[in-house]
Amino acid sequence: MEFDLIRALQDRLPATRHDVVVGIGDDAALVQPAHGSQLAACTDTLVEGVHFLPGTAAADLGWKALAVNLSDLAAMGATPCWALLALALPDADRAWMAEFADGFSALAQQHGVSLIGGDTTRGPLTITVTALGTVSPGQALRRSGARVGDGVYVSGTPGDAALALRLLQSGAAGPHHAPLLERLARPQPRVALGVALRGLASAAIDVSDGLLADLGHIASAGMVGIDVHAERVPASAGLVQEDLPETSRQALQLTGGDDYELAFCMPRQHETTLAERLQETSCTFTRIGDVVSGSAVRALDGQGGQISVAQPGWEHFR
Ligand code: ADP
Ligand code: MG
Repeated sequence: MEFDLIRALQDRLPATRHDVVVGIGDDAALVQPAHGSQLAACTDTLVEGVHFLPGTAAADLGWKALAVNLSDLAAMGATPCWALLALALPDADRAWMAEFADGFSALAQQHGVSLIGGDTTRGPLTITVTALGTVSPGQALRRSGARVGDGVYVSGTPGDAALALRLLQSGAAGPHHAPLLERLARPQPRVALGVALRGLASAAIDVSDGLLADLGHIASAGMVGIDVHAERVPASAGLVQEDLPETSRQALQLTGGDDYELAFCMPRQHETTLAERLQETSCTFTRIGDVVSGSAVRALDGQGGQISVAQPGWEHFR
């Protein structure tokens, strides 16, 4: 089974990068990072029933397992280069493997990432990807570093993935929800944004647990407070169309996980430079708040009053 899968993956991956000295097939891979660059490394696991609903399409899982890792590299300002894939599978289903490989390689090709190794075992469906990327010394984006007076920004339209999950769970998802469901199934890691933020952002993180929860990490790492103006958080057309009560929409946008957008802090004078750097991309960013003194992340309404948001961000073992 293991060799079928590895073959399926290899068949679907682009010609190996020139910097892969030894790829799949030996005891370990050998890569040659560009001279002087730092290696950024991260790993993330998706477990059936915890991180995705049972029955999720194999191609979507292949995509997402890589996407969540490329999102971490993006939040670091790193350029993704290589990935490893550790898979536990309950059975040897060839069709499943081929579809998984299709989804994985579709995203890998978009970002020129080579699969250089992994491990395959039998067990409850669990997918672990390790992603490696490069960044010049001093250029990586850290969670720490936000300064009082910086703007607070988010890319894209947070809340879509959480809404999609709720629609699936309640059985209310219909054909017109396709764009929302796509946001949950196939998040686009904001790699170009992460690279564009080099030298501009004072702090960055990717939004996996919920906007307020993840901004909380920036606040504590930087020993600052963050005020978020809830009405400034951009909503997608799909979310607006649901016509939810204000409090539900805000809860989805401020605490919903799985968006894999980037949240970052930056001196406001860099806004024009960032917009110029993103001109060739479809990536948008919006200033949603300010870095302030203190240590709390507060969500504010249009009058500046503090909102208490209904649901906390996703936390494991709650
Ligand atoms: P070992 O017993 O030495 O761990 P394996 O049989 O597990 O060797 O792996 C053989 C080769 O196939 C290695 O190069 C490994 O990195 C690669 N490989 C195994 N599983 C995967 C996978 N799921 N994805 C990519 N490469 C894999
Ligand atoms: Mg092995």
